[in-house]
Amino acid sequence: LSKPSDVNTIRRSLLLAKIHEEGLDTLFVTDRVNVRYLTGYTGSNGLLALSPEHGVLFYTDSRYTEQAAREVSCKVRIVRTRPLIATAFREAIRRKPRKIGFEKSSLSWAEFNLMQASKKMPLGCELVAVDPWVELMRMIKTPEEIEQIRLAVELTSSAFETALFQRFKPGMCERDLAAEIDHQQRKLGAEGPAFETIVASGPHSALPHARPRGEKIAANQLLLIDMGASRDGYTSDMTRTLAVGKLDQVQKKLYRAVWEAQQAALDAIRPGVRAREVDAAARAVFARHGMEKEFPHSTGHGLGMEVHEAPRVGKGDKTILRAGMVITVEPGAYQRGLGGVRIEDTVLVTLNGCRVLTPTPKELMIL
Ligand code: ZN
Ligand code: ZN
Repeated sequence: LSKPSDVNTIRRSLLLAKIHEEGLDTLFVTDRVNVRYLTGYTGSNGLLALSPEHGVLFYTDSRYTEQAAREVSCKVRIVRTRPLIATAFREAIRRKPRKIGFEKSSLSWAEFNLMQASKKMPLGCELVAVDPWVELMRMIKTPEEIEQIRLAVELTSSAFETALFQRFKPGMCERDLAAEIDHQQRKLGAEGPAFETIVASGPHSALPHARPRGEKIAANQLLLIDMGASRDGYTSDMTRTLAVGKLDQVQKKLYRAVWEAQQAALDAIRPGVRAREVDAAARAVFARHGMEKEFPHSTGHGLGMEVHEAPRVGKGDKTILRAGMVITVEPGAYQRGLGGVRIEDTVLVTLNGCRVLTPTPKELMIL
């Protein structure tokens, strides 16, 4: 199994088995990341039709003829019409199917309507909204995928080090530091940031999803950095909160509580545990500090080809953790007027616990 195309073939046959089991004649995969996962296609307009009886066909348009020939490991059809599903659907219904599945979280209303309103729809044929089957497959990573994620994670940690400890200057504004972080990630081989880089200083860091401003990064304040890269189709995600100058006791206490919560969540990770139990471990630490109201988001999320994927490591998520899953662990605490602290690592679930992939230290760093 050295060639990536072999991996794609195995993934498609697993999905075909599922399609068969669920009694569908055909499934259309339209989610861009799922299409890439199953075919290797990196372009923006592709659709995969999978039929246990008639095989697998990849649809794209003529802009991608050459790229599809190079990347895609199954049969390719180049079509002229838009959207692709118009052709794929027309071809599928010729075989008089009884059930056609589509991915409910990615097909547009217009595309659904195009199928629903088709006059050629065979009598008794049913359109079936399918759960995130491919997303569930994507939760367990192959060793090759884990290596890709590890490389993205290390790239982010190196860029963090250069941006914060070589390029940062007192008086710099949040936006300039964010640009420096993005620049360093690109120089190290990122296709781009995996999401909009967060640089938030002082009270602004109390907003969990703060956007970098033109404001100067102030002294004796917290500085929250949340950053990630896309590299070769895989992502990374890391948060560190630093001290610019000296912190007071309240800020330091906030930092220690978050660090403790993060460690408690990491300690809770092992195969067989439910995602919500990891979340509960972090929450229990905040409760002990009387800070449960200051932690308004989930403890983490799955990470892979997308920066946010299944499972959600939060309240009520029943997903059972398995070896080979990659998740983030990122509790935070936010106090209005003072600021926020979040510490986020990317973590691999192993056979007996977990391995933190993020190499950046967690001791409070001082700028
Ligand atoms: Zn993050
Ligand atoms: Zn995250």
